[in-house]
Formats: sequence, structure tokens, C-alpha cells
Amino acid sequence: LIPPQKNNQLLLDFTSQTPPVALDEAGLQALLARLSGLVVRLTITDNRTRMASFARKEDGMHLRLHRQFLEADRAVIAAVANWMKKPKAGVPQEVKAFVSSIQTADKPVRRRTILYPFGQVHNLRTIYEQVNARFFGGKVSTKITFGKDTSRQRVRIRRLGSFSHSLNLITIHPLMDNPRVPEWVVAFTVYHEMLHALQPAGHKRPHDAVFRKAERIHPDYKRVMEWRKKNVGLVNGGRVTGGR
Ligand SMILES: [Zn+2]
Repeated sequence: LIPPQKNNQLLLDFTSQTPPVALDEAGLQALLARLSGLVVRLTITDNRTRMASFARKEDGMHLRLHRQFLEADRAVIAAVANWMKKPKAGVPQEVKAFVSSIQTADKPVRRRTILYPFGQVHNLRTIYEQVNARFFGGKVSTKITFGKDTSRQRVRIRRLGSFSHSLNLITIHPLMDNPRVPEWVVAFTVYHEMLHALQPAGHKRPHDAVFRKAERIHPDYKRVMEWRKKNVGLVNGGRVTGGR
């Protein structure tokens, strides 16, 4: 049994700004029961889409909370207790803010870029290393991947590669991974994107005269342009055409 004055002291503590102390499941359940005056049956989950939910049943309030709630501020735990007492008032602001802070902290992990440099036909990592060594003295330092977009919508040849400064990533369209696309065409596209990688971020005219000149000194420039002309319908509806 807990003497009443000790209970009051605890209640005062929960609303203060003391640093959070991690609780175990039983401890959090007891705390929520004490704060809400309800019989609480707590289950800790790893469910990231539904981080807090409860349902009143015959044997008490069945509450499910994400594991992170074990480390929540006392103010957040007090808000959960109030929420169970007055569910019609909606999700308390403290609980909403706590859940969104967890989800925000997760974002960098979810946004991690997964690279797919090895195609069925072309190995972008090898091509990248060869182009880098041959034309740039190995000084280009980016990631490279095939894009994941295999949609059958029409794609223009000039969009078969792209470079993102923020991700420091060269992306080659997956439709290039085709036996009818010669390796030297892929290599030229990689070269083109490497030139972009060497430009300052936010360059106003990425295909300016300096860029075009750098493109033209590539030994394969002429035959790539000819190949492109002949294969202008190369990627049309996702199918390789042309290539006479
Ligand atoms: Zn470009």
C-alpha cells in the first residue's frame, strides 16, 4: 500500500520537467494505473504505424504502446493517462508531439539510399571505375546506381542518366541495362554525369559551353551521338527499338 501523501508527491513529480528515467513494462503499467485510476493492462509493441492505442474491456483498459514510451517524459505519460480517462477529448498534444518526434528521428534511416550498381548486362561499378581512372584521374567520388523506375512510360535518351548533388549519386536508367545498349554508350552516360558531379551544386546552366566542350573531347563522342540518332526510338514504351 502506498501512503496517500507519497502518491501526491509522485503526482507532482510527473508534471515537473525532471529528466525522463526509463521504466520497464511493469513500472510503466503501474504508473499509468496510478495516474489514471484505471486497471491498466499494458502491452509494449514495436508497431511503428500505430504507436499508441487502447480499448476498454471487462478486465480493464488494454493499452498498447510503442517501446519508445518506456523512455518518455513524465508529462507524456501523464497525458496518456488523461487520454484513457477522457478518450473523447482526442489524442493529447503531448502524445502527438512525442509520436512525431520518434518518427522524425527515424527518417534518416528510412531515407538511406540502397544502391543497385550491378545490372543483368552492365556493371556500373566497373564502368564507373574505368571512366573515373581514364578521364578524371580517379578524382570523382560519387555513388552510382541503376534507378528503380522500370515504368513503361516514354523516357528520352537524354534523361537516361542523372546526378543528384544532395545525394552525391549518379543514377542510370534501368532501361540502359540491355544487351542492345553497348557498354560504351553506358560509359559515355556515366562520363556525362561525372562532369555534372564536378560542377558546383545549383549550377544555373548545367549544359553550358564549357560542359559541351568537355563532352566533345571524349573519344567516343561522335559514335555515341550517331548511335543515339539511330536509336532515337530506343526507349519507347519500355521496349528497345531501332539499332539497325
Ligand atoms: Zn546532363
